[in-house]
Amino acid sequence: MTNTTKYIFVTGGVSSSLGKGIIAASLAKLLQAQGYRVTIQKFDPYINVDPGTLNPYEHGECYVTEDGAETDLDLGHYERFLNTPTSQANNVTTGRIYQSVIQKERQGEFLGKTVQVIPHITDEIKDRIQILGNSGDFDIVITEIGGTVGDIESLPYIEAVRQLRWDLGQQNVIVIHLTLIPYLSAAGELKTKPTQHSVKTLMESGVQADVLVCRTEHELPYELRRKLALFCNVEENAVIQSIDASTIYDVPNFMLDEGLDKVVLKKLGLECRTPDFKGWNAFLKRHKNPKTEVNIGLIGKYVELQDSYKSILESFIHAGAENEVKVNVESIHSEYLNTDNIKLKLSHLDGVLVAPGFGERGIEGKIDAVKYVRENNIPFFGICLGMQMAVIEFSRHVLGIADADSTEMNPDTPNPVIDLMEEQKSITDKGGTMRLGAWSCDLKKGSKAYNIYKEETIKERHRHRYEFNGVYREQIEAAGMIATGLNPDTGLVEIIEIPEHPWFIGVQYHPEYSSTVARPHPLFVAFVKAALKHKTKKKGVSMAQ
Ligand code: GLN
Repeated sequence: MTNTTKYIFVTGGVSSSLGKGIIAASLAKLLQAQGYRVTIQKFDPYINVDPGTLNPYEHGECYVTEDGAETDLDLGHYERFLNTPTSQANNVTTGRIYQSVIQKERQGEFLGKTVQVIPHITDEIKDRIQILGNSGDFDIVITEIGGTVGDIESLPYIEAVRQLRWDLGQQNVIVIHLTLIPYLSAAGELKTKPTQHSVKTLMESGVQADVLVCRTEHELPYELRRKLALFCNVEENAVIQSIDASTIYDVPNFMLDEGLDKVVLKKLGLECRTPDFKGWNAFLKRHKNPKTEVNIGLIGKYVELQDSYKSILESFIHAGAENEVKVNVESIHSEYLNTDNIKLKLSHLDGVLVAPGFGERGIEGKIDAVKYVRENNIPFFGICLGMQMAVIEFSRHVLGIADADSTEMNPDTPNPVIDLMEEQKSITDKGGTMRLGAWSCDLKKGSKAYNIYKEETIKERHRHRYEFNGVYREQIEAAGMIATGLNPDTGLVEIIEIPEHPWFIGVQYHPEYSSTVARPHPLFVAFVKAALKHKTKKKGVSMAQ
């Protein structure tokens, strides 16, 4: 069988953080909307086996796939744009490549040969690049190469791309190079030199960029595009402008206007059709024309970093559009919350989400926040650690178990209402050992969760080691906090609710990973709706006074 899958590589030059993931996702969207079966994968040059062990300060959010891979946050963009699941195969790091080559060496697979970067590491990279392509499920595979060309650790990847072009044929492999065109305000000019140099760096490794996507804060005039084409050895129509957008969801349309799909498909010898953007544009219209707004507090400990709670923030955008509401997310640092300032910090909010997390820092602030919103009937949404904090708060203040705690924060607590899962007790390795990926959950008929999902069994993604301690379930339920979602096999509590509260839901899993433009997550949609209701009610009360 001849392999007809086409490969598009996206490399980056000049600077990091130019948004390769968004460009890759936008191009994929354009191709998908023309009927092509597309997937995107990311190859990261760092030595960690996966980003699961990386601190969010280093690397932003860790995104979890259905099959339980801990991956780069760009995979979240891929899923949100394409509405198709990614998997372990969609994110590969240098650490994983080396791990597998070294394992093969130990098993004697190289038959006494000296194991080297070329060909052994590059072969492993090439094999991994083609896994999804060889599945027969995709017409086009887009591969984003992490990092910036010229970095030492990127070299084997660029070399693998160079070789693949020969292996698969020039017409089956193209390279898009994303660069920055800086604007020098003192000179009042856009500068092309850094791009020229980074294209040259790529050429030193034997790779000629076919398309340049140029990030810029100002319109690229025609003369500059011509100059870039001439100096960088690309066709004029292959110089694509990517101007700053007010929302990442505008980028597919921007790329359509610039003809990125046309030039890419022509180079790959594929037909260019009119993309069906009806659903996408309907979402954009709702997103950009909200009828009103709500203020939601996001309580976490990485709030100064946009990327740490990426999927939560994007889920609010999807849910806001669905409700035709602008969701203003106010990031609140739990470390600085206490009983003295809680009212000041939370009373104006229409809803509060307590974020996922690990470790002790900022825990008491989260508990104070849950207490405040529970007592003041403000809609509450707890995710993973946020749900665990709700259980602790309820046990302490409603059940009167003053020392109720999680063994994560206090291993010796006499009342571990949240405890390490049984299967975790023998685990010492940190990487890839949490309870990960999609697991089933049965919903209790008549509960809020059931009414929101409108399904008896759901599947949601997880990333945790601790759980609701079943020993306390009867007491907690008798006091008014009910377990409304349970794992059918283990009985593990996946969802808690307080039926007496207008909207109080905590989930052990991560709904934010599966919210997409085409399918906003029902819990986020319902939470935003509840916030809106709270706001309307609040207004009614204040007008009556
Ligand atoms: N630290 C908690 C646990 O491991 C919560 C994890 C999370 O919020 N993702 O169970």
